[in-house]
Amino acid sequence: MKNMSGLRLLTCILGALVLCPRASLAQAVPPADHPAVTVKGQTYTPRSILARNMGTEADRITAFPPHRIVANIYYVGTNTLSSFLIATAQGHILIDSTYERNVPTIEKSVTQLGFRFSDIKVLLGNHAHGDHQEGDALVKQMTGAQVMAMAEDVPALQAMKPGGKEHPIDKVLHDGEAVMLGGTTLVAHLTPGHTPGCTTWTTTAEEGGKTYNVMFGCSLRPPAVLTPALVDQFNRAFKTVRALPCDVQLGDHGAQYNMQEKYAKLKDGNPNPFIDPASCTLEADVQEAMFHAVLAEQQAARP
Ligand SMILES: [Zn+2]
Repeated sequence: MKNMSGLRLLTCILGALVLCPRASLAQAVPPADHPAVTVKGQTYTPRSILARNMGTEADRITAFPPHRIVANIYYVGTNTLSSFLIATAQGHILIDSTYERNVPTIEKSVTQLGFRFSDIKVLLGNHAHGDHQEGDALVKQMTGAQVMAMAEDVPALQAMKPGGKEHPIDKVLHDGEAVMLGGTTLVAHLTPGHTPGCTTWTTTAEEGGKTYNVMFGCSLRPPAVLTPALVDQFNRAFKTVRALPCDVQLGDHGAQYNMQEKYAKLKDGNPNPFIDPASCTLEADVQEAMFHAVLAEQQAARP
């Protein structure tokens, strides 16, 4: 909000939130600082989780050093907004364009890793919020990539029109559907709640003669008010993510998998810090505890 001009702020207040992703996602009114949950010695509130995920405006738009995570999977996002490149001999898959203004930054990170941005053939998304998918139209324009989206998130994506650009959707996906390119298969798992089409992607990666299960987790962060429909969706999502095989857990914000701490341990000769099955359910543990705490608070407030 600090960087927003008065006029733009007024336009945002008057206009639909989709026109103002910066305002809607950095949240003009921060979420409540209660309830608090403690998981593995760390205490979280809705406000601290959002702050952890988003960081500052500078964090959201500054490239994090691009790096290889495992096998052909690379990080090309900013300090707090994830973008993943899966490189294959037949072209590349990009998961999450993030904000439209970050697309040139992502392109630079892809180039720094020795790949060509124009070789991106498929663009996938984590969920239909501007901090993850606002840049889809620009990526499509720059690469000609096929844009694929989970059916349940299509209405929200179609309403996301940065600069009036139509949101491209070339293929509508359904729960369990596979996307294949150059020997890599990604499977889309519907893990709804945070958005109706929130998608957890899984794939396998081979490194050092071993095969690892990689999970690109969707946000499991509950909203302030849980309707019965949302309760059903979140329960389904927690059950689904806990059943997925996982050796490498990633997420739409680096903080969900301690990216910065793991990156600092990434050195030749060290075991790969991203291969960490023990931490695979940490984010689900935090968010499920928060979900139950929010629900309990809501039920206690009822007359
Ligand atoms: Zn979101």
